Amino acid sequence: MSVMIYWFRQDARLHDAPALRWAAERASALCPVVCLPPESTTRWGVPRLGPHRQAARGQTWLGLDASLRALGSRLAVLHGEPAQALPALARQLGADTVVCERIAAPEEDAEVAALRAAGLTVREHWQSGLFEPSALPFAVADLPKVFSQFRQQLSRAGCQPLAPLPALSQLPPWPAAAPALPGPSEAPCPPLASGCAFPYALPAWRLDEAAGLAHLAGYCAGEDIARYKATRNGLSGTAYSSKFSPWLACGALSVRQVWAALAARDAEYGVSEGTEWLRFELLWREYFRLLHLACGRQLYGVSGLNPQAPAPRHHPASYARWCEGRTGQPLVDAAMRELAASGYLSNRLRQVAASYLLHELDDDWRAGAAWFEAQLVDYDVYSNQGNWLYIAGRGTDPRGGRRFNPDKQAAEYDADGAYRRLWGTA
Ligand code: FAD
Repeated sequence: MSVMIYWFRQDARLHDAPALRWAAERASALCPVVCLPPESTTRWGVPRLGPHRQAARGQTWLGLDASLRALGSRLAVLHGEPAQALPALARQLGADTVVCERIAAPEEDAEVAALRAAGLTVREHWQSGLFEPSALPFAVADLPKVFSQFRQQLSRAGCQPLAPLPALSQLPPWPAAAPALPGPSEAPCPPLASGCAFPYALPAWRLDEAAGLAHLAGYCAGEDIARYKATRNGLSGTAYSSKFSPWLACGALSVRQVWAALAARDAEYGVSEGTEWLRFELLWREYFRLLHLACGRQLYGVSGLNPQAPAPRHHPASYARWCEGRTGQPLVDAAMRELAASGYLSNRLRQVAASYLLHELDDDWRAGAAWFEAQLVDYDVYSNQGNWLYIAGRGTDPRGGRRFNPDKQAAEYDADGAYRRLWGTA
């Protein structure tokens, strides 16, 4: 038994928490922490973390702190990059092990490599997906290059996601040698316009575990889920899609918990088109995770997985207009205004807005991905990168990218103009 540090990354929960459980069962004392790096700006001139993401992060960490306190522990916020902050804390605690979830993306892998180089033992757990990679019917390196083949292979092999673990009911004590460390605090939430599809300023939509579990239970018990297949391409309102993503992204909800809740609903009411289709979408989420495990850093190169792709160009002036919702294209501008005003956007409009930047403004997909990263309260490195690559034709899509005609999309999904009026572009 030894003193350990538990480093929360995108897994802010006590239910279905294999990594935290592993640490809790082995540590004589445990110091749960999050790291708060200094604010920074990307090479595209946009902040790494916009105001909505900062506010969302504050909610998530406060909720996690409350859950830990209920078990006699608490959450400490370490200011600084993990590579400096965690080794310094380990020295103060006399700890040599950091336990955390694995995030298979270049920057996140580099953080862990730096901790190891500093002499720490880092125990990483792959826990943000549905399946244990070793239980798949193919080696991860041989992940099918087309999503439908991936889905069919899982189905033929009868692969079932792991069942979620019960919530932890006890934790090791806080280390006696711990220095005074600050806890989380609420970050100001920018005023959210009425009509936001994910109104996280309201208590029921707070981005913490308690609200996430309550939302999951309410959605699975309600009527909207049965209509999901028909409504999922909606543009406004809270009910057209599940809105699970912001809780999934920060880890306040476990995807295995979501899958189990869908199965429980099916057991009670029978399988519906809605639950079937939600599982289909959750498999897309899974696919982009496994794609990262299979292809790693290659996904971040300028050509992605398509070596023939021409080098993208970047046009700062039109990019800035796109970010601000001033392109002159009413549907795209409405979407970009909603994104900046609320930190959330429907899947349909993410596709339309991304396509417009890439295929009409001829810009670099990495600049678009960086803007979404700064804004989205459901930012998830795997899903964001995977979807941008897909639309740019630099991922695994055999059709070589996706181009959406915004006028046609407006005619189909916003025929009465209500969405564009809501965001002031019609
Ligand atoms: P629902 O329609 O209710 O779907 C249920 C769940 O399935 C979602 O919560 C999500 O976990 C998963 N899912 C649905 N569609 C996708 C998809 N295309 N790819 C991966 N998973 C999916 N999703 C994120 O979670 N984080 C991101 O950073 C992100 N960036 C995106 C960037 C672009 C350019 C595009 C086109 C899509 C992006 N998505 C991202 C995927 C998708 O738009 C969101 O997951 C979805 O809109 C979230 O709303 P929901 O939970 O109501 O989804």
